[in-house]
Amino acid sequence: MLKIAKTISQVKKLCEESNGSFGFVPTMGYLHEGHLSLIKKSKKQNDSTIVSIFVNPKQFEKSEDFRTYPRDEKHDIKVLKKAKVDILFLPKAKELYPDNYKTYVDSEALSSVLEGKSRPGHFRGVATIVLKLFNILKPTNAYFGQKDAQQVAIIKKMVTDLNVPIKIIVGETIREPNGVAISSRNVNLDAKQRQEAIVLYQALQLAQKLFKKGEKNPQKIKLAMGKLIQTTGGNIDYISFANNQTLKELTDLEKGVLVSLAVKFGKTRLIDNIIL
Ligand code: AMP
Repeated sequence: MLKIAKTISQVKKLCEESNGSFGFVPTMGYLHEGHLSLIKKSKKQNDSTIVSIFVNPKQFEKSEDFRTYPRDEKHDIKVLKKAKVDILFLPKAKELYPDNYKTYVDSEALSSVLEGKSRPGHFRGVATIVLKLFNILKPTNAYFGQKDAQQVAIIKKMVTDLNVPIKIIVGETIREPNGVAISSRNVNLDAKQRQEAIVLYQALQLAQKLFKKGEKNPQKIKLAMGKLIQTTGGNIDYISFANNQTLKELTDLEKGVLVSLAVKFGKTRLIDNIIL
């Protein structure tokens, strides 16, 4: 049976009562197949699984974006019950960030490139809430999606640098049958944009194809990807070829490179990535 905790003391008590290993899947809710794949992984690998739903105000640069982020608690609870999750943590911002809140995690250069460049302060908010949740829940394993590759790099570095005794496990990106990476933000796309959004994955596949053919120059591949994306109404924010851990841009490609991109359709910014 799903147990729901809304305060830190309630959730701590539930965590202390559960025996054996436990897996933690942090989310912002509006649950979809991407979240469910992480939940399934956690259920397979742990004695119990805890999911948190918290739309973290500290990781939104604009309050409008925070206010309009999609939410559906009723639906999420149904999904979690069906998935046989053990504990749902639904904290309140007021308890996590009381008025005199002062402390943040700074991931330096990892947080100022790619997504961080377009969304200043975003990863400071992400790393801070993840560390807070880790400290409250003390899970054995924590699950993150490859969909958010920069988040994965930052969280992995954080647990290493700050000696956090939690194993970070990464789940593959879950896609619609047409290739579009599933995201809570996809609901903000209209029918035409939804169709055009396929171009992100198509551009990544084009990069893979050119790389396999022997192209090692990222600039040339970027040009081809850009041309493809420009056949739609999407506006490119960035296309990047970077080291998967340091996120430093590369001039010569090799296997294992993180290819990531962000494209805006109207007001909606979509991201996707693959590893070559
Ligand atoms: P969010 O609710 O968007 O903060 O996402 C919660 C977790 O689910 C993060 O670790 C995401 O990377 C992961 N996630 C979101 N979408 C997908 C997807 N399409 N495939 C795999 N993981 C995902």
